[in-house]
Amino acid sequence: MQFIQIIGHAETKQLLINSVRNKHVAHAQLFIGGEGSANLPLALAYATYLDCENKQEHDSCGQCASCVKMNKLVHPDMHFIMPVVNTPKKEALSQNYLPEWREFLLTDPYQSLNDWLQFIGAENKQGNISKEESRGLLRLVSLKAFEAEFKVVLIWLPELLHAAAANALLKLLEEPPPQTIFLLVANSPEKLLATILSRTQLVNVRTFTPEETIHYVQTQFGADDAKAAQVAQLAEGNLRMAGQLCQEMTSDYFEFFVGWMRLCFTEKLATIIKMSEDFQKLGRENQKNFLHYALSVVRRVMLYGVDPALVGFVPPAEADFVKNFSKVIHANNVGLLSNQINQAHYYIERNANPKMVFVDLSLQLAKFLKMK
Ligand SMILES: [Zn+2]
Repeated sequence: MQFIQIIGHAETKQLLINSVRNKHVAHAQLFIGGEGSANLPLALAYATYLDCENKQEHDSCGQCASCVKMNKLVHPDMHFIMPVVNTPKKEALSQNYLPEWREFLLTDPYQSLNDWLQFIGAENKQGNISKEESRGLLRLVSLKAFEAEFKVVLIWLPELLHAAAANALLKLLEEPPPQTIFLLVANSPEKLLATILSRTQLVNVRTFTPEETIHYVQTQFGADDAKAAQVAQLAEGNLRMAGQLCQEMTSDYFEFFVGWMRLCFTEKLATIIKMSEDFQKLGRENQKNFLHYALSVVRRVMLYGVDPALVGFVPPAEADFVKNFSKVIHANNVGLLSNQINQAHYYIERNANPKMVFVDLSLQLAKFLKMK
Protein backbone atom coordinates (compact mmCIF):
# COMPACT_ATOMS: atom_id res chain seq x y z
CA MET A 1 0.00 0.00 0.00
CA GLN A 2 1.21 3.50 -0.76
CA PHE A 3 0.16 6.83 0.73
CA ILE A 4 -1.28 7.97 -2.57
CA GLN A 5 -3.92 5.22 -2.39
CA ILE A 6 -5.36 6.73 0.79
CA ILE A 7 -7.76 9.65 0.39
CA GLY A 8 -6.96 12.79 2.41
CA HIS A 9 -4.91 12.71 5.65
CA ALA A 10 -2.17 14.87 4.15
CA GLU A 11 -0.98 16.09 7.57
CA THR A 12 -0.63 12.59 9.04
CA LYS A 13 1.13 11.29 5.95
CA GLN A 14 3.62 14.14 6.05
CA LEU A 15 4.25 13.63 9.75
CA LEU A 16 5.03 9.96 9.15
CA ILE A 17 7.24 10.68 6.17
CA ASN A 18 9.13 13.39 8.04
CA SER A 19 9.87 10.99 10.89
CA VAL A 20 11.72 8.76 8.43
CA ARG A 21 13.44 11.58 6.57
CA ASN A 22 14.62 13.14 9.84
CA LYS A 23 15.64 9.72 11.20
CA HIS A 24 13.28 10.02 14.17
CA VAL A 25 11.39 6.80 13.70
CA ALA A 26 9.89 5.74 17.04
CA HIS A 27 10.33 2.01 17.58
CA ALA A 28 6.70 1.55 18.64
CA GLN A 29 3.81 3.49 17.20
CA LEU A 30 0.13 3.18 17.85
CA PHE A 31 -2.25 4.05 15.02
CA ILE A 32 -5.59 4.84 16.61
CA GLY A 33 -8.73 5.12 14.53
CA GLY A 34 -12.29 3.83 14.43
CA GLU A 35 -13.58 1.00 12.27
CA GLY A 36 -13.36 1.80 8.59
CA SER A 37 -10.81 4.56 9.21
CA ALA A 38 -7.41 4.88 7.57
CA ASN A 39 -5.46 3.54 10.56
CA LEU A 40 -4.51 0.21 8.99
CA PRO A 41 -3.93 1.58 5.46
CA LEU A 42 -1.71 4.35 6.87
CA ALA A 43 0.33 1.83 8.87
CA LEU A 44 0.75 -0.30 5.74
CA ALA A 45 1.79 2.68 3.62
CA TYR A 46 4.19 3.75 6.34
CA ALA A 47 5.77 0.27 6.48
CA THR A 48 6.18 0.39 2.71
CA TYR A 49 7.83 3.79 2.99
CA LEU A 50 10.17 2.65 5.77
CA ASP A 51 11.71 -0.05 3.62
CA CYS A 52 11.46 1.60 0.21
CA GLU A 53 14.84 1.64 -1.50
CA ASN A 54 14.12 4.84 -3.37
CA LYS A 55 12.09 7.01 -1.00
CA GLN A 56 10.38 9.97 -2.65
CA GLU A 57 9.50 13.23 -0.98
CA HIS A 58 5.80 12.40 -0.52
CA ASP A 59 5.60 8.63 -0.92
CA SER A 60 7.38 5.34 -1.44
CA CYS A 61 8.53 4.73 -5.03
CA GLY A 62 6.16 1.80 -5.62
CA GLN A 63 8.66 0.17 -7.99
CA CYS A 64 11.71 -1.03 -6.09
CA ALA A 65 12.02 -4.68 -5.06
CA SER A 66 10.92 -3.82 -1.52
CA CYS A 67 7.84 -1.85 -2.61
CA VAL A 68 6.77 -4.62 -4.97
CA LYS A 69 6.92 -7.18 -2.17
CA MET A 70 5.27 -4.81 0.31
CA ASN A 71 2.42 -4.19 -2.08
CA LYS A 72 1.78 -7.92 -2.33
CA LEU A 73 2.25 -8.24 1.45
CA VAL A 74 4.98 -10.84 0.98
CA HIS A 75 8.04 -8.88 2.16
CA PRO A 76 10.15 -11.20 4.36
CA ASP A 77 10.81 -8.38 6.84
CA MET A 78 7.17 -7.46 7.24
CA HIS A 79 5.38 -9.48 9.88
CA PHE A 80 1.73 -9.51 10.77
CA ILE A 81 0.06 -10.41 14.04
CA MET A 82 -3.74 -10.35 14.11
CA PRO A 83 -6.62 -11.93 16.02
CA VAL A 84 -7.37 -15.46 14.84
CA VAL A 85 -9.19 -18.55 16.11
CA ASN A 86 -8.50 -22.22 16.71
CA THR A 87 -10.10 -24.50 14.14
CA PRO A 88 -9.85 -28.28 13.75
CA LYS A 89 -7.33 -27.71 10.95
CA LYS A 90 -5.39 -24.77 12.33
CA GLU A 91 -3.85 -23.61 15.56
CA ALA A 92 -4.61 -19.99 16.45
CA LEU A 93 -1.37 -18.47 15.18
CA SER A 94 -1.19 -15.52 12.82
CA GLN A 95 1.29 -17.22 10.53
CA ASN A 96 -1.21 -20.01 9.86
CA TYR A 97 -3.60 -17.43 8.49
CA LEU A 98 -1.23 -15.42 6.32
CA PRO A 99 -2.66 -16.43 2.93
CA GLU A 100 -6.16 -15.43 4.07
CA TRP A 101 -4.85 -12.24 5.64
CA ARG A 102 -3.18 -11.15 2.40
CA GLU A 103 -6.29 -11.81 0.39
CA PHE A 104 -8.43 -10.00 2.94
CA LEU A 105 -6.25 -6.88 3.02
CA LEU A 106 -5.72 -6.74 -0.70
CA THR A 107 -9.48 -6.94 -1.28
CA ASP A 108 -10.32 -4.07 1.06
CA PRO A 109 -8.07 -2.68 3.82
CA TYR A 110 -10.97 -0.86 5.49
CA GLN A 111 -12.71 -4.02 6.70
CA SER A 112 -13.56 -4.72 10.34
CA LEU A 113 -12.74 -7.45 12.84
CA ASN A 114 -16.15 -8.95 12.21
CA ASP A 115 -15.44 -9.09 8.47
CA TRP A 116 -12.14 -10.81 9.19
CA LEU A 117 -13.64 -13.42 11.51
CA GLN A 118 -16.29 -14.21 8.94
CA PHE A 119 -13.68 -14.37 6.23
CA ILE A 120 -11.68 -17.03 8.09
CA GLY A 121 -14.82 -18.98 8.98
CA ALA A 122 -14.62 -18.30 12.71
CA GLU A 123 -18.41 -18.53 12.92
CA ASN A 124 -19.34 -17.51 16.45
CA LYS A 125 -15.87 -17.75 17.95
CA GLN A 126 -14.26 -14.63 19.32
CA GLY A 127 -10.87 -13.95 17.80
CA ASN A 128 -7.86 -13.07 19.86
CA ILE A 129 -4.09 -12.85 19.68
CA SER A 130 -3.32 -16.07 21.43
CA LYS A 131 -1.02 -17.00 24.26
CA GLU A 132 0.92 -19.16 21.82
CA GLU A 133 1.57 -16.13 19.70
CA SER A 134 3.92 -14.76 22.36
CA ARG A 135 6.53 -17.43 21.60
CA GLY A 136 6.35 -16.62 17.92
CA LEU A 137 6.64 -12.93 18.68
CA LEU A 138 9.83 -13.39 20.69
CA ARG A 139 11.36 -15.67 18.06
CA LEU A 140 10.39 -13.33 15.28
CA VAL A 141 12.28 -10.35 16.59
CA SER A 142 15.37 -12.35 17.51
CA LEU A 143 15.91 -12.88 13.77
CA LYS A 144 17.89 -10.30 11.87
CA ALA A 145 16.23 -8.37 9.09
CA PHE A 146 16.67 -10.37 5.88
CA GLU A 147 17.13 -7.69 3.35
CA ALA A 148 15.58 -4.42 4.44
CA GLU A 149 16.60 -1.48 6.56
CA PHE A 150 13.81 -2.08 9.05
CA LYS A 151 12.02 -5.15 10.24
CA VAL A 152 8.37 -4.22 10.74
CA VAL A 153 5.94 -6.01 13.03
CA LEU A 154 2.38 -4.88 12.45
CA ILE A 155 -0.08 -5.87 15.16
CA TRP A 156 -3.69 -5.43 14.16
CA LEU A 157 -6.06 -4.90 17.09
CA PRO A 158 -3.61 -5.24 20.00
CA GLU A 159 -6.61 -4.72 22.29
CA LEU A 160 -7.30 -8.41 21.64
CA LEU A 161 -3.93 -9.59 22.92
CA HIS A 162 -4.08 -12.46 25.37
CA ALA A 163 -2.42 -11.43 28.65
CA ALA A 164 0.62 -13.64 27.98
CA ALA A 165 1.06 -12.21 24.50
CA ALA A 166 0.64 -8.69 25.86
CA ASN A 167 3.43 -9.33 28.34
CA ALA A 168 5.71 -10.67 25.64
CA LEU A 169 5.03 -7.56 23.60
CA LEU A 170 5.66 -5.35 26.61
CA LYS A 171 9.05 -6.97 27.11
CA LEU A 172 9.92 -6.25 23.48
CA LEU A 173 8.81 -2.65 23.77
CA GLU A 174 10.91 -2.21 26.90
CA GLU A 175 14.03 -3.64 25.30
CA PRO A 176 13.49 -2.92 21.65
CA PRO A 177 15.41 -5.18 19.28
CA PRO A 178 17.60 -3.25 16.82
CA GLN A 179 16.05 -1.95 13.60
CA THR A 180 12.65 -3.35 14.52
CA ILE A 181 9.58 -1.15 14.30
CA PHE A 182 6.30 -2.13 15.94
CA LEU A 183 3.18 -0.69 14.36
CA LEU A 184 0.12 -1.26 16.53
CA VAL A 185 -3.20 -0.58 14.83
CA ALA A 186 -6.06 -0.19 17.29
CA ASN A 187 -9.74 0.75 17.37
CA SER A 188 -10.14 0.97 21.16
CA PRO A 189 -6.89 2.08 22.83
CA GLU A 190 -8.62 2.28 26.22
CA LYS A 191 -8.59 -1.52 26.24
CA LEU A 192 -4.79 -1.65 26.01
CA LEU A 193 -2.48 -2.13 28.98
CA ALA A 194 -1.38 1.28 30.23
CA THR A 195 2.20 0.02 30.17
CA ILE A 196 1.94 -0.74 26.45
CA LEU A 197 0.21 2.54 25.77
CA SER A 198 2.89 4.53 27.53
CA ARG A 199 5.62 2.95 25.41
CA THR A 200 4.14 3.81 22.07
CA GLN A 201 4.04 7.01 20.10
CA LEU A 202 0.48 7.89 19.18
CA VAL A 203 -0.67 8.47 15.64
CA ASN A 204 -4.27 9.70 15.83
CA VAL A 205 -6.18 8.93 12.67
CA ARG A 206 -9.33 11.01 12.29
CA THR A 207 -12.43 9.66 10.54
CA PHE A 208 -12.97 10.44 6.88
CA THR A 209 -14.90 13.62 6.06
CA PRO A 210 -18.16 13.44 4.05
CA GLU A 211 -16.33 14.88 1.02
CA GLU A 212 -13.64 12.18 1.28
CA THR A 213 -16.25 9.46 1.63
CA ILE A 214 -18.08 10.79 -1.43
CA HIS A 215 -14.86 10.74 -3.41
CA TYR A 216 -14.16 7.17 -2.26
CA VAL A 217 -17.52 5.70 -3.25
CA GLN A 218 -17.50 7.54 -6.55
CA THR A 219 -14.06 6.28 -7.54
CA GLN A 220 -14.30 2.79 -6.04
CA PHE A 221 -17.94 1.95 -6.67
CA GLY A 222 -18.95 4.36 -9.43
CA ALA A 223 -21.74 5.85 -7.29
CA ASP A 224 -23.53 8.88 -8.76
CA ASP A 225 -23.69 12.21 -6.90
CA ALA A 226 -26.99 11.59 -5.12
CA LYS A 227 -26.12 8.09 -3.97
CA ALA A 228 -22.62 9.08 -2.90
CA ALA A 229 -24.00 11.92 -0.77
CA GLN A 230 -26.54 9.66 0.93
CA VAL A 231 -23.97 6.97 1.58
CA ALA A 232 -21.56 9.52 3.05
CA GLN A 233 -24.23 10.73 5.44
CA LEU A 234 -24.97 7.25 6.68
CA ALA A 235 -21.42 5.96 6.86
CA GLU A 236 -20.18 8.71 9.18
CA GLY A 237 -16.61 8.48 7.98
CA ASN A 238 -16.42 4.67 7.99
CA LEU A 239 -15.25 3.62 4.51
CA ARG A 240 -16.04 -0.02 5.08
CA MET A 241 -19.62 0.87 5.87
CA ALA A 242 -19.70 3.22 2.90
CA GLY A 243 -18.70 0.41 0.56
CA GLN A 244 -21.30 -1.90 2.03
CA LEU A 245 -24.06 0.70 1.81
CA CYS A 246 -23.14 1.40 -1.77
CA GLN A 247 -23.85 -2.20 -2.64
CA GLU A 248 -27.02 -2.46 -0.57
CA MET A 249 -28.64 0.81 -1.53
CA THR A 250 -31.01 0.10 -4.40
CA SER A 251 -33.07 3.25 -4.43
CA ASP A 252 -32.73 6.97 -3.91
CA TYR A 253 -33.31 7.42 -0.18
CA PHE A 254 -33.51 11.18 -0.41
CA GLU A 255 -36.19 11.16 -3.09
CA PHE A 256 -38.15 8.56 -1.18
CA PHE A 257 -37.81 10.51 2.05
CA VAL A 258 -38.91 13.83 0.55
CA GLY A 259 -41.94 12.25 -1.12
CA TRP A 260 -42.83 10.51 2.10
CA MET A 261 -42.52 13.64 4.28
CA ARG A 262 -44.77 15.58 1.90
CA LEU A 263 -47.41 12.85 2.15
CA CYS A 264 -47.17 12.78 5.93
CA PHE A 265 -47.43 16.55 6.13
CA THR A 266 -50.50 16.66 3.92
CA GLU A 267 -51.90 13.45 5.49
CA LYS A 268 -52.67 11.72 2.22
CA LEU A 269 -53.48 8.37 3.78
CA ALA A 270 -54.41 6.49 0.61
CA THR A 271 -51.10 7.42 -1.00
CA ILE A 272 -49.19 6.57 2.19
CA ILE A 273 -50.69 3.08 2.10
CA LYS A 274 -49.61 2.76 -1.51
CA MET A 275 -46.14 3.94 -0.58
CA SER A 276 -45.89 1.30 2.13
CA GLU A 277 -45.75 -1.26 -0.66
CA ASP A 278 -42.68 0.46 -2.08
CA PHE A 279 -41.19 0.45 1.39
CA GLN A 280 -41.82 -3.28 1.70
CA LYS A 281 -40.12 -3.90 -1.64
CA LEU A 282 -36.90 -2.34 -0.36
CA GLY A 283 -36.10 -5.48 1.62
CA ARG A 284 -35.09 -5.57 5.25
CA GLU A 285 -31.52 -4.25 5.08
CA ASN A 286 -32.57 -1.35 2.89
CA GLN A 287 -35.54 -0.60 5.11
CA LYS A 288 -33.23 -0.31 8.10
CA ASN A 289 -30.72 1.79 6.19
CA PHE A 290 -33.48 4.04 4.98
CA LEU A 291 -34.82 4.62 8.49
CA HIS A 292 -31.32 5.32 9.70
CA TYR A 293 -30.98 7.80 6.86
CA ALA A 294 -34.35 9.40 7.73
CA LEU A 295 -33.12 9.84 11.29
CA SER A 296 -30.00 11.64 10.15
CA VAL A 297 -31.96 13.97 7.85
CA VAL A 298 -34.44 14.84 10.61
CA ARG A 299 -31.57 15.78 12.93
CA ARG A 300 -29.89 17.80 10.24
CA VAL A 301 -33.04 19.70 9.36
CA MET A 302 -33.59 20.59 13.01
CA LEU A 303 -30.00 21.79 13.46
CA TYR A 304 -30.26 23.84 10.31
CA GLY A 305 -33.23 25.66 11.81
CA VAL A 306 -31.17 26.50 14.89
CA ASP A 307 -28.13 27.65 12.94
CA PRO A 308 -27.12 26.56 9.43
CA ALA A 309 -23.47 26.63 10.52
CA LEU A 310 -24.12 23.68 12.87
CA VAL A 311 -24.88 21.34 10.00
CA GLY A 312 -21.57 21.29 8.21
CA PHE A 313 -21.81 19.45 4.95
CA VAL A 314 -25.16 19.42 3.12
CA PRO A 315 -25.25 17.71 -0.29
CA PRO A 316 -26.27 20.37 -2.85
CA ALA A 317 -29.30 18.38 -4.01
CA GLU A 318 -30.69 18.37 -0.48
CA ALA A 319 -30.07 22.02 0.40
CA ASP A 320 -33.53 23.35 -0.58
CA PHE A 321 -35.37 20.63 1.25
CA VAL A 322 -33.34 21.07 4.42
CA LYS A 323 -33.98 24.80 4.37
CA ASN A 324 -37.73 24.52 3.74
CA PHE A 325 -38.37 21.70 6.16
CA SER A 326 -36.48 23.42 8.96
CA LYS A 327 -39.69 25.39 9.51
CA VAL A 328 -41.56 22.15 10.18
CA ILE A 329 -39.00 20.14 12.15
CA HIS A 330 -37.77 22.00 15.22
CA ALA A 331 -36.71 21.57 18.83
CA ASN A 332 -40.30 20.90 19.96
CA ASN A 333 -40.92 17.85 17.79
CA VAL A 334 -37.49 16.53 16.82
CA GLY A 335 -37.31 14.22 19.84
CA LEU A 336 -40.76 12.76 19.16
CA LEU A 337 -40.01 12.26 15.47
CA SER A 338 -36.66 10.63 16.19
CA ASN A 339 -38.14 8.31 18.79
CA GLN A 340 -40.78 7.10 16.37
CA ILE A 341 -38.25 6.44 13.63
CA ASN A 342 -35.98 4.65 16.07
CA GLN A 343 -38.82 2.50 17.24
CA ALA A 344 -39.75 1.60 13.66
CA HIS A 345 -36.13 0.59 13.07
CA TYR A 346 -36.34 -1.62 16.15
CA TYR A 347 -39.52 -3.33 14.89
CA ILE A 348 -38.08 -3.90 11.43
CA GLU A 349 -35.00 -5.43 12.97
CA ARG A 350 -37.26 -7.84 14.82
CA ASN A 351 -39.09 -8.87 11.67
CA ALA A 352 -42.31 -6.91 12.10
CA ASN A 353 -44.49 -6.48 9.02
CA PRO A 354 -42.81 -3.61 7.12
CA LYS A 355 -46.05 -2.29 5.60
CA MET A 356 -47.72 -2.00 8.97
CA VAL A 357 -44.66 -0.43 10.55
CA PHE A 358 -44.49 2.11 7.73
CA VAL A 359 -48.14 3.12 7.85
CA ASP A 360 -48.11 3.37 11.61
CA LEU A 361 -44.94 5.43 11.58
CA SER A 362 -46.37 7.74 8.92
CA LEU A 363 -49.46 8.46 11.01
CA GLN A 364 -47.34 9.28 14.04
CA LEU A 365 -45.02 11.51 12.06
CA ALA A 366 -47.97 13.31 10.47
CA LYS A 367 -49.23 14.15 13.92
CA PHE A 368 -45.86 15.42 15.19
CA LEU A 369 -45.08 17.40 12.03
CA LYS A 370 -48.13 19.55 12.75
CA MET A 371 -46.76 20.63 16.11
CA LYS A 372 -45.72 24.23 16.56
ZN1 LIG B 1 10.28 1.67 -3.26
